[in-house]
Amino acid sequence: MPQDEIVRPVVTISRRGADRLRAGHVWVYRSDVIDAKNVPTGALVTIQELSQKPALNGAKGSGRSARTLPPRVLGSALYSTASEIALRMISTKPVNDLERLVRERIRAAIAYRERFVEDTNAYRMIFSEADFLPGLIVDRYNDLLSIQVVTQAMDAAPMREVFLSELQHALSPAAIVERVDPRVRRLEQLPEKESGVICEDAGPGRAVLRDHITTEFQMNGVRFLFEALGGQKTGAFLDQRENYAAAAQYARGEALDVFCYQGGFALHLAKVCEKVTGVDSSRPALELAERSAALNGKEIEWIEANAFDLLRDYSDQGRQYDCIVLDPPAFAKSRQNLETALRGYKELNLRALKMLRAGGILVTCSCSYHISAAGLLEMVQAAGLDSHRIIRLLENRGQAKDHPTVLGIPETAYLKCLVLLVS
Ligand code: SAH
Repeated sequence: MPQDEIVRPVVTISRRGADRLRAGHVWVYRSDVIDAKNVPTGALVTIQELSQKPALNGAKGSGRSARTLPPRVLGSALYSTASEIALRMISTKPVNDLERLVRERIRAAIAYRERFVEDTNAYRMIFSEADFLPGLIVDRYNDLLSIQVVTQAMDAAPMREVFLSELQHALSPAAIVERVDPRVRRLEQLPEKESGVICEDAGPGRAVLRDHITTEFQMNGVRFLFEALGGQKTGAFLDQRENYAAAAQYARGEALDVFCYQGGFALHLAKVCEKVTGVDSSRPALELAERSAALNGKEIEWIEANAFDLLRDYSDQGRQYDCIVLDPPAFAKSRQNLETALRGYKELNLRALKMLRAGGILVTCSCSYHISAAGLLEMVQAAGLDSHRIIRLLENRGQAKDHPTVLGIPETAYLKCLVLLVS
């Protein structure tokens, strides 16, 4: 063995698991793990496929014994002792220097954004598997970085040290905040922790408060406030950024933004529409939306309501709009509730179709991975038939390019956004 080759723990996986990796995916489910004895939490491991016994082609008793083939090595992965996704591949090659690899991956992710992201200072800088840094999500909001760590391997202290120092070195942010999803940490059996500032470089004259960090960012010429650790901890839906611009390209007249959150679509529509109304059930989200509207000198009506009730009431009252945006939360969390989810989407779309004036624009979205682009189109087509509307497809869109879709990893494509002309 060459001297510099480090012996890693080895995890043996099934043929089915290996086939998935050979098709370009990066996950191995626990059910495909055959042997991972004594592998520590979050370890970097070598993946090997269970040896296949060659078929015996001699007759019985010919004296030839079946020799097992040597195990086939598939690459290097990060191991979780808790998740159903036991292995997340990080390279198809042996990895001797994980630190160097992670630093290179971060620099490559930054270079990708420099090349393809335009007209904004808020975007996803690192998107986990889509950037071959599984378990790490980093969003940039102007001078702030907001990170999320969702696997044992990425949460390990030496690993955190590596990516935090690389991010600081490459981007010199005013502060890095960590957003914690307690449910994810529980599932991954990580110790509980709170969201908070993990490092800061306030710089001269710039005071950063520990429990409340605010900045302002812009996208497509629209200004937004961002509260890193305020009441609303989710951040913005950066994946819709290019769709906001697309919606504004077609919208006019009176617009209704349903499930508006902090006003992403509404604030863009306010550039081109006479009147804009945003609807959401979250008051803190609407309060931030209003502050962003003021920043842009726009007047937008914000309504705190259950969108289903409001759409029913408004359509019963015969209200009419020239543009309606539907961007509900993911209704289909799993394949099991797909039917129910589709019924929910259809109800919303039917109501919206009923309320659109002839020549109106419907922007309808789904961020459920389990609902395909074809499935969404089919649902809208059915709603069009039921409501006797003719629908023309103007744009069939997905997530913004800072949330890359990797061919072979279907889970990296999840957002659908249709821009439709309704007559
Ligand atoms: N369009 C937004 C993102 C929407 S996320 C943007 O581009 O930023 C989904 C939103 O739906 C969340 O803000 C959530 O508060 C809201 N929501 C969830 N269920 C709702 C309901 N039944 N009625 C109204 N809003 C709801």
